[in-house]
Amino acid sequence: MTNTFDLLGEQPGMLIGGERVTSPSTRPVLDPASGGELTAVPEGTAEHVDAAMAAAVAAQRQWARRSLPERADALTAVITEIERHAEQLARIVVAEQGKTITEARGEVEGIRAFFDYAASAHKYRAVGEVVAASRPSEMLVTREEPLGVVAAITPWNYPAAIVARKLGPALMAGNAVVLKPSEETPLSALAVARVCQLAGLPDGLVNVVTGAGRVVGNALVTHPRTSMVTLTGSVRAGKEILAAAAPSMIPVSLELGGKAPFLVFADADLDLAVELAAQARFVNCGQVCTCNERTYVHRSRYDEFVARLVERSAAIRVADPSDESAEMGPKVSAAEWEKVAGMVARAQDQGAKLALGGGRPDGERYRDGNWFAPTVLTDVRNDMEIVQQEVFGPVLPVVPFDDYGQAIEFANSTTYGLTAYVFSRDMATAMQACDDLEFGEVYVNEIGPEQVQGFHHGWKQSGLGGEDGEHGYQRYVQHKTLYLGYGGRA
Ligand code: NAD
Repeated sequence: MTNTFDLLGEQPGMLIGGERVTSPSTRPVLDPASGGELTAVPEGTAEHVDAAMAAAVAAQRQWARRSLPERADALTAVITEIERHAEQLARIVVAEQGKTITEARGEVEGIRAFFDYAASAHKYRAVGEVVAASRPSEMLVTREEPLGVVAAITPWNYPAAIVARKLGPALMAGNAVVLKPSEETPLSALAVARVCQLAGLPDGLVNVVTGAGRVVGNALVTHPRTSMVTLTGSVRAGKEILAAAAPSMIPVSLELGGKAPFLVFADADLDLAVELAAQARFVNCGQVCTCNERTYVHRSRYDEFVARLVERSAAIRVADPSDESAEMGPKVSAAEWEKVAGMVARAQDQGAKLALGGGRPDGERYRDGNWFAPTVLTDVRNDMEIVQQEVFGPVLPVVPFDDYGQAIEFANSTTYGLTAYVFSRDMATAMQACDDLEFGEVYVNEIGPEQVQGFHHGWKQSGLGGEDGEHGYQRYVQHKTLYLGYGGRA
């Protein structure tokens, strides 16, 4: 173990009721850049979930008694600890997830921003309203209350930031959290939880149980003390969790996959569109739910766009993610590599042509680890799997369109509805597209990342609920109505 893992101690353990909990049964954490084993974490069980829930229930009762300004101050202390450990957190993200160190530093800035927004935007919020009562001498008040214990289940692509995205509002609203991170990337979540502990958050308020989705995750979702589930992950997991939560009828918030269309109209600024199309596809090795998954270009600009996109994408420096000049690291896992390679091969079988890349980059450095070259596909039809299903890797199919109507039809022809991009210099075209696109988030001549005060949520099968901003905060509260009679009615 190197200093990278100082925050986690010699042998990473789960965090349950403020204690570091180990287990004889462990699961390795692999380095995406080499395939080698970094360390191992405990393989959690339903019993660990029970213990974490008991600790969370006890902690939540006390935490909910604290005022909002007090909770905000406690979260502000977390921000200080994040800043103190920022570089270490970034290096943990790089080690287990494989994004570049530059991207990982951005992710840590994101953690800070999520806590900052949660604390500062809600510290002095109005927590309810007084409504005109129907009877005299009565006050009718509705007010926000915490839900209780939130089960938070997170993916591997932003293994630290998505943890903070859930912890910030959940804690601020007065809940405790039991978190289950992705099997691929448990260390970042454990490190964020440790930072919360170092900042003085009460024991049991933030617990982390590592392990399998269908074991630990399912035990959390079905636990009788769980008050709400928030998942960021795949559509498949979302459906399983929704079904598992149905018998107890607890609220479920789902942030799921995406298949963002990137529309380039004939009058678009092509310099801007090419640059941002590449950035929005290859960031984090293409592993972002908002990534540009399919680019549609007006036929009159198609050839020029493809030529320039290929030139721009070929220049991306694929290198060791801890190298300061790396622009793209490896994919997270061998299984993910295989999935993407399989999709590219099937697209080629169906007639797609490789304009760039297509698999492992050439060179000795890329022999071990999950390296995948920036890839551009042409001769793609809109009904192909590569255009319809989420790739979540550095592969961009580029499809021509003939007119506005066809562009919108192609863009909306999917079961996903998270993010869409529109590039046009014409306000009327851009705004009409904002009206017509069936997506929860539309960027015009812009790309992400999304901002903490916005609202990130998917339409259709991309989600249920949503995160960030005031609408996201509302997921973590419930309302109580008080009828306060002071007239002495007999
Ligand atoms: P995944 O669905 O495989 O796993 C996500 C989490 O769910 C993991 O912790 C996993 O163990 C757990 N899980 C899986 N099945 C479960 C079950 N039946 N019960 C309880 N828990 C279960 O997703 P992933 O591969 O880690 O992440 C990639 C996916 O996440 C992509 O589809 C991506 O688009 C999506 N994502 C969405 C957003 C968003 O904001 N909409 C953000 C990031 C990632």
